[in-house]
Amino acid sequence: MEHLFCLRCNRDFEAGQKSVGVFMFAQTVGIKPRQKSAAQRICFCPQCSVALAMGPPPEGALNVAAWKMIRDLVGSDPALNQAAWETLRGVVGLLPPSEAGTGSDARPVNEANADSAVQ
Ligand SMILES: [Zn+2]
Repeated sequence: MEHLFCLRCNRDFEAGQKSVGVFMFAQTVGIKPRQKSAAQRICFCPQCSVALAMGPPPEGALNVAAWKMIRDLVGSDPALNQAAWETLRGVVGLLPPSEAGTGSDARPVNEANADSAVQ
């Protein structure tokens, strides 16, 4: 089976991993016999796809072409952003708990007063 990983962060993809695939092949034009290269597949994880799309254009014509394609995907539907967001939440969930509990004593604003105001 093909070993897939994100070209930007080198993260390995597990089975069923959400990702963006960029497929490329080269073909001769106006030359006989016509030649066609094997196709290459470049993958990006959702987080890197969104980060690339939100970032400035990269150097190099090939990179810019891929950047425009990814921007097109990220910009046309929030599903890819959603996938990146879910991945981010998964990563955040793995981090050790910090001072997240300090705000847990906060109570809803004077419920009793709100009730009496209605009556
Ligand atoms: Zn990545």
